[in-house]
Amino acid sequence: MKNKALVLFSGGQDSTTCLYWAIDKFGSASVSAVAFDYGQRHKIELVSAKKIAKMAGVKLDILPISTFSALGGNALTGSEKVKTGNAKKTGLPNTFVPGRNLIFLTFAAAHAYTVGIHDLVTGVSEADYSGYPDCRKGTIKALETSLSLGMDYKFKIHTPLINLSKKKTVLLAKKLNAFPALALSHTCYNGKRPPCGKCPACILRKKGFDEAGLIDPIG
Ligand code: ZN
Repeated sequence: MKNKALVLFSGGQDSTTCLYWAIDKFGSASVSAVAFDYGQRHKIELVSAKKIAKMAGVKLDILPISTFSALGGNALTGSEKVKTGNAKKTGLPNTFVPGRNLIFLTFAAAHAYTVGIHDLVTGVSEADYSGYPDCRKGTIKALETSLSLGMDYKFKIHTPLINLSKKKTVLLAKKLNAFPALALSHTCYNGKRPPCGKCPACILRKKGFDEAGLIDPIG
């Protein structure tokens, strides 16, 4: 029997590709997904997540985390505008939500523990991104160890996109027949549909499709 896997899912391009990667590797009957309602300004993400999970035929649980918006200080959960470029003080863009991936993976692991799943899948990547420190291999490996020790339960955190550029992520999605799902995915930091085309997330998404020589099914 194949292992069961839990995909950390946001309804975005990368986690959608990861969902299809997990279905390919573990089989659709063994895959479920978890998304977080963390006070993101654009609930459209969760709408996309629900539609894609339905299309893929996987169970989706949406868990609430209200603390990020109480912390504020960034453009995704606070009232700041999305800026291009990095802040001088931190060297990171103002779309960085401190601790987000660590908390998401911890809650996902707690959820996985309760339902007997050992394999977690997340779409973090070191390549072509904004340098978020919680998307690095070292962080993920250390967290995998911490979670396994802290729950006395063996977790494996799969990061199929960790070394992939946006171009390669697009090519992987194509190979996995994830394009119909990508048409429903959401990337735009400004919460626009159709996407604004101007924010850093839209620009990065377009660059990936352009370099892959493929047309984004989102239109
Ligand atoms: Zn945008």
